[in-house]
This record gives sequence, C-alpha cells and structure tokens, in this order.
Amino acid sequence: MIVTPTTVANAGTGDPVGRDPHTFLKRYFGYDQFRPMQEAIIRSVVGGRDTVVLMPTGGGKSVCFQIPALMLPGITVVVSPLIALMKDQVEGLTLNGIPAAFLNSTQSSREQRKIEDDCIKGRLKLLYTSPEKLLSESFYIFLKQLNISLFAIDEAHCISSWGHDFRPEYTQLNVLRQNFPEVPMVALTATADKLTRQDIASRLGMIDPEVFVASFNRPNLSLQVLPGINRLQQIVRLLQLKPDTSGIIYCLSRKSTESLAAKLQEKGLMAGFYHAGMSNTERSMVQEMFLKDDIRIMCATIAFGMGIDKSNVRWVIHYNMPKNMEGFYQEIGRAGRDGSPADTVLFYSFADVATYKEMLNDAKPANLGVQLAKLERIQQYADANTCRRRILLSYFSEELTDPCGNCDVCRNPRITFDATVLAQKALSAIVRTGERVPMNLLIDILRGSRSQMVLQYGYDKVKTYGVGKDLKFEDWRNYLHQLINVGVIEIAYDQHYALKKGILGDAVLFEGRKIELVRPEDVTKPVVEKARTRTQQTKDDLYARLDVLRKAVAGEQNVPPYVIFTDTTLEDMARQRPTTPDGLRNVSGVGERKLQLFGRRFLDVIVEYVRGQAKDGGSTRGSTQVLTLELFQRGLTIEAIAAERNLTTITVIGHLFALKNAGYDLPLEDLVTPQERAEIEQAIGLVKPENNALKPVYEHLGGRFSYDAIRITMGLMES
Ligand code: ADP
Ligand code: ZN
Repeated sequence: MIVTPTTVANAGTGDPVGRDPHTFLKRYFGYDQFRPMQEAIIRSVVGGRDTVVLMPTGGGKSVCFQIPALMLPGITVVVSPLIALMKDQVEGLTLNGIPAAFLNSTQSSREQRKIEDDCIKGRLKLLYTSPEKLLSESFYIFLKQLNISLFAIDEAHCISSWGHDFRPEYTQLNVLRQNFPEVPMVALTATADKLTRQDIASRLGMIDPEVFVASFNRPNLSLQVLPGINRLQQIVRLLQLKPDTSGIIYCLSRKSTESLAAKLQEKGLMAGFYHAGMSNTERSMVQEMFLKDDIRIMCATIAFGMGIDKSNVRWVIHYNMPKNMEGFYQEIGRAGRDGSPADTVLFYSFADVATYKEMLNDAKPANLGVQLAKLERIQQYADANTCRRRILLSYFSEELTDPCGNCDVCRNPRITFDATVLAQKALSAIVRTGERVPMNLLIDILRGSRSQMVLQYGYDKVKTYGVGKDLKFEDWRNYLHQLINVGVIEIAYDQHYALKKGILGDAVLFEGRKIELVRPEDVTKPVVEKARTRTQQTKDDLYARLDVLRKAVAGEQNVPPYVIFTDTTLEDMARQRPTTPDGLRNVSGVGERKLQLFGRRFLDVIVEYVRGQAKDGGSTRGSTQVLTLELFQRGLTIEAIAAERNLTTITVIGHLFALKNAGYDLPLEDLVTPQERAEIEQAIGLVKPENNALKPVYEHLGGRFSYDAIRITMGLMES
C-alpha cells in the first residue's frame, strides 16, 4: 500500500501497545506535535509492519524509528552508512536521555566489547552500526544474543543500483530477513525516485510493506533566482542581511571555492572552503569548525554536506547553476532542517549552462539525452516567471494548488513590458559589428561610450552607436541576459564570448516578433528576511545571549551547538521568555533530560535579561512587574503573590495586564469563568464607569462579584 500526503488521514489509528507516541515525543524530544506522517509511520512500525519511509531531508525521519525503539521492548539496530552521522545521532540521543551507542571500525576493541556487553545486558535502546560490520560472522553471533525489536535501515536508497548513491555492501542486507525473519524492518530515505523505492523493499526482502511518501515541500525554505552577474557583490549584500548565521555557497570547481572564500575573507567575512582535493584531515577539520559555528560561511563543492545533519544551516547559495533538479533539491535541502525560515539563492548564468553542455557533449555519456533534458528542466526553473515552488514540486510529481508566497516570483510579481524595440537595438548593434563583440563592449557601443576599444575599432561609426543611451549600463546587462535566456541572443563561448543572433533573432529583427522582458528591479530584489522590527530586535538581543550560552554549553559537552538546542528552540525560548522550569518545558524542543541538564542555566540568562530590561525601562515599576511575573509563572495565585509582595491584589492584576500588553503570553482569561466575564462585561457596558472606576460596576452588580473579577474583566476587554 502506498500512502500519500492526502491518504494518510485515513490511516489506521490503533495503538498496539496501548501507549501514546505523543508522550514519548514530548518527554524525550520536547516537541508538542508530530510533523506530517510521523505518527502514522510510528504506528505502522510499532505494529510490527515492514515500513518504507520517503521523506525529504529535514522532514524528521529519525524520530520515526527512535520513538518505536523507545516503545518496543528490546533493542533497535540502526544501519547507517556514514560514521560521522552515527556519532552525531548518538550524541543527540544521549543528551535527550535515550540510551544509545554505535559500533564501528573507528573504536578500539575494548570500547566495542563494553558496548556489546551493554547491548547483551539490555542497557541500550538503540545500536547504530555500519553495513560492513553487520555482515561479519562474529557480529552475527553477537546479534543472535540480543532481543532485537526492529531493524532501521537509514539512507536506504544506497541499497538500490538505481539510486544515486549505490553502495555494494548494502545489497547484502537481505541476510537480515533471512537470519531474523521475525524482526520487522523500517527503511528510510530522502530519495523520491519510484524505481528506487520499489527496489528497496524487494532487496530487503520486505513482506507487504507499508510505504509512506511524505510531501517534498519545505515551506520554510525561501526560493530565489538571481542573475549571475556581480555575484560577489550580491552575495556580500545578502550576507549582510543575515549576520551571524551559518550557510553554504556551492561552487562548481575546487579552485572557485578557494578564491571565493578568500574574497569573502577580504571583506571581513568568516568564510572557509571545502572540496575533495583537500586531505582527509583538512576536510574533517573545516567540517568540524562549520558544525561548531566557528566558520559560518562554507564555500564548497557538492562533496560537502553528505555526512552532516547540522540543523541550523540558515541559507544555501548556488554560485553556479546545478546540473539537475535532484541535485539542486538535495543541496538546498541542507538548509533549515530545524524548521525555522531559511533562504536559498541560485545564481543563474548562461555561461554555466554552456559549460555543462560542452562537458556533456565532450564526454558523450550513454544517457546524454536524459542529462540534457534534465539540464533544461533546471533552466526552466531558473527562467520561470511563475511560482518557483510549483515548478520544483511538479518535478517531483507533486502539485501545489496555491502559489507559495515564499519565492522571489511570488514576493515580487513580475511586471513585463514590451521590449521589442530594445531587443531590436541590441540585435542590430550585434549584426552591424559583425557578431564579434562581447557583452561589455556591446553595451558601450549601445550607450555611446567613448572608450578606447570603441574608438580603436571605429565602433563609434556604426549606425546603432548610442541608440541605447537612455539605459544604465547595469540595466543593459540585465536585459541582455534575459534576451539570451529567451533565445534572442546567443553567446559564442568558443569565440571570446562574442554575442550573436539567437534562434529568435531574425524573427525579432524582420518579422515583428514581440518580446516581453521583466524590469531589473523585480528580478534583483532579495527576498531574504531583512529590516527587523523593534520587538524583534529586543528578541534578538535575548536570542544572542542564549546563543552565547548554547555555544558555551556545547563546548563543555564537546558537541555542536545545534545538538544542545536547535535555532527553533532558541527562538521559541526568546519569544516565550520562561522564568521557571515549567515555563521552559513548554518551549518546543526542551525535553526532560535537557531541562534537567541545562535548564537552570538557560533560565538564569532569561531572568537576568528580563530584569535588565525592566531596569532599562527607567522605572522601578518595570522591575516590580518582573517580580510579579516570576511568581505568577511559578504558579502562585494572585492572592499569594499579593501576600508575598505585600501589595494589593488589584495592583498585582494591574502588573499582569501591563505585562500581557507588553507582549508576554499570560493565560489571564482563565482567571474568570466565561459566565462571570459575560455578566460583568454587560454591567460595564451599561455603567460606562469613568476612568475605569471599579466601584460603580461593583455596586451595579449588587456586590455579587469581587473587585478582582471586575478588574480582570476590564483588563481582558482592553487587551
Ligand atoms: P531527516 O533525517 O529527515 O533529515 P531529522 O530526523 O534530522 O530529519 O529531523 C530534522 C529536525 O527536525 C531535527 O532537528 C529534529 O529534531 C526536528 N524534528 C523532528 N520531528 C519534529 C517534530 N515533530 N516537531 C519539531 N521538530 C521536529
Ligand atoms: Zn512561489
């Protein structure tokens, strides 16, 4: 059975072990809700059914086997091809209070024996291992001694020769079913391909598996395509909008990763580079620095990103156009895994397309046609004047009914204008100079420049000299790029980048073919989040302090900061500003274990911040309100707070409403019942007391309600 996003709502809801997966999600991971499909998948797995899971990167696959591991009686054995990822996952689990370990070739035999012993004694819930290890004879004998509840095969596409990352040792995993016929299996992958999907199930020997295909839409990722001109300048401008955030810039060549990093460093930005030509030590060193937020900007070839699941990558830039949509999707997928907004930018240049075409035509691969067609699809994406997410998802056979609102086309709807005359001017200049001049020189001719080149070749004599004076140099450049993209002009890369008539050239020049172009300002406006509001600035201030603490704690634990708390969790903390353990528990991503381990330290930072803010307000009223807030968040009643602080209850209520109006999320409506509130509101409406005096209302109601209840109702009516 195939479950798609639309049919999952009908999936079975029986709970075979009578325990609710939600409690595990909250207690161990600190999350309140499952993401789409997670719960259905967990129920299928816990129910003993073989299960195949297709979910995009960042969709949340891990909890789909980690929660079953907790719910099932024995141990779950996880097969994962990447040693670095195993370590990451085990560290994350341990910090969440889930007993887990990994066994692989990097450990000493003593370490391995200790872990094996823990497994046999039933002390662990999850054991991660590599496929190679799993297949050895001695390991088999060891496994036979365990009470295995589940096998989880991560990155399961590696089993399929159809997949893009085939690993021969994965194909032997069919022995799992032969040797452990009674143990259910779950296979997980982010590869959407249909052939791969069927192949996975049959190669693992799964029996009537339930297949879950989650939506590949990642709404938190913004999508933008920018013209591939002045890239460095555009990147610097983008990064200025996103200070102190981590991101990746994918480049085509090893050399360009290095030169770009150097140029960014010259501009004072913290950039590093990564490519397959570096030594193993160098590579793991820069990777580690990136994970730990010590290098924020990574200029890399596509070799970078496979083995890491850093959740706080806030942006991904493609310096060059990717070869196809699969690659593009996988690479942008590395941004925003924590679910918080993240930005993606692709620089589109015709030169990149030409380079690929040349490479393909030279190499003549067997599937040349397919590869060229795939290149064309990504070109269509880059060229689009309609919602980009629609185009992206349609490539993965998914339909988006409404425009997304989070791509550059949705944010800055394209206004086209009739550019036929403009196109004719450009074409005519190209023809009259013998299809020999490159772009910059052509623009000089069109704009009537008296540059040395123009004069030297006598281009100031041609008939079209200066016919494009009215446009700025940059605008011409932009329009020429658009004209190239639609086929009016062509670049001869093998003839010093000379511009020539494209396939539509003659039609525009002689047959009155109309051409529409887009104004450059629509195309180049960045869609990343910028200009923060005031409330956000103060939020960021607290966020920044929490970020510093997170980094310190991460250093002590020797794990990357996002393993302590994700950006999303830190943002939620800065928004809610809890001052008590219970308040902190409400923050998404704070489970019991982390609360116990670091809760106090994060609370201290928040309390200190809130106090400081009250003082900055210049009045003692601010700090007295904060004291009231702390007591209220600790769960004290209004009377108790009043007694503790030696204030009247009316004053305490006044504090609480002032705090609520200042943006604190306080459940003050719970202080009166809906009936009380309705009756008092009616009385207030009739009496219309001056200066919000309580007494006339109190008397009108014949003393049946307390002054407190009246004051609370008034506060609720105001806020
Ligand atoms: P994948 O393996 O599919 O790429 P992960 O399992 O690494 O994704 O999950 C990505 C991020 O989403 C992690 O930070 C994880 O803690 C978080 N996450 C998973 N499930 C939920 C949920 N139900 N609510 C909030 N965050 C979640
Ligand atoms: Zn859109």
